[in-house]
Amino acid sequence: MECIFCKIANGEIPSATLYEDNDFRVILDVNPASKGHTLILPKKHADNLYELPDETASKALVLAKSMASKIERALECDGLNLVQNNGETAGQTVFHFHMHIIPRYKNDNVKLGWKPGKLSDAMREELLSILK
Ligand code: 5GP
Ligand code: ZN
Repeated sequence: MECIFCKIANGEIPSATLYEDNDFRVILDVNPASKGHTLILPKKHADNLYELPDETASKALVLAKSMASKIERALECDGLNLVQNNGETAGQTVFHFHMHIIPRYKNDNVKLGWKPGKLSDAMREELLSILK
């Protein structure tokens, strides 16, 4: 198996581990966007969110919440982003599901954003007809 996050999550490759249980390992990102940038990795491989079992998805968010709270208290950051990328176009570079916890500090250099568009009547109706 050639997945680097499988190897890290299961302890075959050492990592700066903040938390571990039967299902997850939580590590420091090796190329942090900000001080305390953390990754939540399930131990069982799923390429992305679409493939993640429901039970793992539920546990991942509960774990993200507790890690985020701990990071916020310990690092006294001014804000925090929870980020999860699916597909190369969305910025995914490691194809093993993971969640980023990115602490934010006033005047930090983290860029996450988009230019707000405008939902037209036609697009709203089209999307409601497809997605509802
Ligand atoms: P993605 O772009 O796929 O959402 O995020 C991948 C993240 O994994 C990046 O932030 C990158 O810095 C981090 N990363 C990639 N390889 C390693 C590694 O070997 N160890 C650690 N700790 N983080 C890694
Ligand atoms: Zn994997």
